[in-house]
Amino acid sequence: MKINIIGGGPAGMYFAILMKRAHPAHDITIFERNGPDDTFGWGVVFSGKTLANLRDADEASHAEIIRDFKAWDNVDVVHRAEKISIHGNSFSGISRLGLLKILQRRCEELGIVLNFHSEISDLESQRANCDLLIGADGVNSTVRQTFADHFQPELSVRPNKYIWYGTSQLFHGLTLTFREDNAGVFAAHSYKFNQDTSTFIVECDPATWANAGFAEMSDVDTRKYLEKVFAKDLDGHSLLSNNSKWINFLLVKNGRWSFENTVLLGDALHTAHFSIGSGTKLAMEDAIALKACFDADLNVPSALRRFEQVRRPVIEEYQAAAHESMVWFESARDYMHLSPLDLAYVLMTRSGKIDMETLRRRDAEFVAAYERRR
Ligand SMILES: Cc1cc2nc3c(=O)[nH]c(=O)nc-3n(C[C@H](O)[C@H](O)[C@H](O)COP(=O)(O)OP(=O)(O)OC[C@H]3O[C@@H](n4cnc5c(N)ncnc54)[C@H](O)[C@@H]3O)c2cc1C
Repeated sequence: MKINIIGGGPAGMYFAILMKRAHPAHDITIFERNGPDDTFGWGVVFSGKTLANLRDADEASHAEIIRDFKAWDNVDVVHRAEKISIHGNSFSGISRLGLLKILQRRCEELGIVLNFHSEISDLESQRANCDLLIGADGVNSTVRQTFADHFQPELSVRPNKYIWYGTSQLFHGLTLTFREDNAGVFAAHSYKFNQDTSTFIVECDPATWANAGFAEMSDVDTRKYLEKVFAKDLDGHSLLSNNSKWINFLLVKNGRWSFENTVLLGDALHTAHFSIGSGTKLAMEDAIALKACFDADLNVPSALRRFEQVRRPVIEEYQAAAHESMVWFESARDYMHLSPLDLAYVLMTRSGKIDMETLRRRDAEFVAAYERRR
């Protein structure tokens, strides 16, 4: 089978790896517009369960991923300068570039052709010269836009602004920090992903963003402003930019996931708000699910239909939980009157996926402190 993949991110590369491993005779080519060492962003998070899925799917890349990752079990909520830690959560962080390099090496080892600096715009001819075309080209997917009549995308630009920085301050856990100034309320999502760097995403509502005057501010001044807002948390460390820009989260859904020999995968197909940290997880688990459909049926259109049947309910459940979390952060200022303990409880249960009993199993001491307070 000849497979063309547009996009060399986690979704595209991982699908290529799983298919080539199972079917070494397949001719698989990935087209990636960036170079092998370019990347946006800093680190990504995986849960313990996702790591188990990755181990079952491909032990070789899993072994490399866990060699590099940083693991922790606490979510820390910082509010009014008090830190509440909730334990019993299993997470690990790895740099996005580190993950991409592991997947690139695995692709090369298996004989997958990786064409870097190849921006694809003529998708009709790509589609015509292969048996299967994968649109794994990320949130602003050209494949999705070109074949919008078939995929029927539903896109929603969310109101909050966010910016993805790094910092050499190490946050030993998934840390959610809330700080207020005259402009409004800022939330930071941070976690370390290697020995010396943490991801530090800042999010705020449109009123806070406008009041702070970020529209006219340079990159350097924006960082200076936010370093002041989070001065206690950064403790003298600066914010590191990687061409970081303020953006609005784009919620992506599609009415149909495939047509004929063409299918979308990962962020091109669906997005889930970064506050539940599952974009890369979902992209790689999409690849696992799609490959499993080809194990059951080698006829391309019917394997693609099966993929949508099996995977859509899982994605819809994640998107529903991520939606609750996203809406929570969009109205974060309404919760700032809460005590740190109450805020931590509300935050832990915001997506509807974790209830009081689950929390009690994870961290009985935290729930006991919360109940005593109530
Ligand atoms: C602020 C923020 C924080 C996040 N935090 C997390 C987190 O903590 N954990 C997590 O798991 N995920 C996180 N994510 C999400 C994660 O980055 C994505 O969900 C994930 O990378 C999706 O993988 P993908 O392969 O579908 O797409 P991408 O990683 O976007 O890859 C798509 C690739 O396609 C290429 N491409 C695009 N168009 C073309 C074209 N026409 N021709 C050739 N190549 C093309 C791009 O260059 C890119 O390399 C976060 C995202 C953001 C924005």
